[in-house]
Amino acid sequence: MERQLAEKTSIKDIIESCGVPHPEVDLILVDEQTVGFDHTLTDDAKVNVFPVANHGTVNAEKRLQTIVISRFVADGHLGSLTRNLRLLGFDVAYSQNANDRQLLDVMAREDRALLTRDRRLLMHAIVHYGYCPRSQNPDEQTIEIVRRFNLSELIAPFTRCLRCNAMLEEATKADVIDKLEPLTKIYYNQFRRCPGCRQIYWPGSHFAKLQKRIEKICSRARDKA
Ligand SMILES: [Zn+2]
Repeated sequence: MERQLAEKTSIKDIIESCGVPHPEVDLILVDEQTVGFDHTLTDDAKVNVFPVANHGTVNAEKRLQTIVISRFVADGHLGSLTRNLRLLGFDVAYSQNANDRQLLDVMAREDRALLTRDRRLLMHAIVHYGYCPRSQNPDEQTIEIVRRFNLSELIAPFTRCLRCNAMLEEATKADVIDKLEPLTKIYYNQFRRCPGCRQIYWPGSHFAKLQKRIEKICSRARDKA
């Protein structure tokens, strides 16, 4: 597409005026030369922009994005994605009522990548790393994130609390027995407990179903075709 500029403009602003947030841009060529986001255009130029998806060995040192990031902050609309990522063991800060300012604060303070479907928020200059999930479906979104941040090898299911994001601890049956329903006391012997919200986890009746979902997500994420 062709853009006429009234004044000297940074390449970041030009790309974003076309609707592409800068955290999704991995390589920029201006007249075949690699440049950074603060590069300004003054004369006629041909600009090529590449997404993270084709992160290759060409111009490897000029790439603008970090690939492997496993700490995230998700916006309030991504509750199901957050649960999925926590189920896979990933650290996701989430608050259903967080406003934009709070999201950006947590992102910057805790060095997290921002997950949001709000492209304008991703365009904020303070955002270094982030991703806009394309799909509306939480499982598809999870696959997108695992692919984008190359997380396949880091997946550790059932290690993190789905409710509060804390790492789970092993607990003996004696530790948790007061909190269990009568049938759970009889049938289960392996437990984990959240040191944050005290939620107790065990491989109960829906465990097999969860495991199937995890396997499906993992195999789809590895299959890049
Ligand atoms: Zn918890």
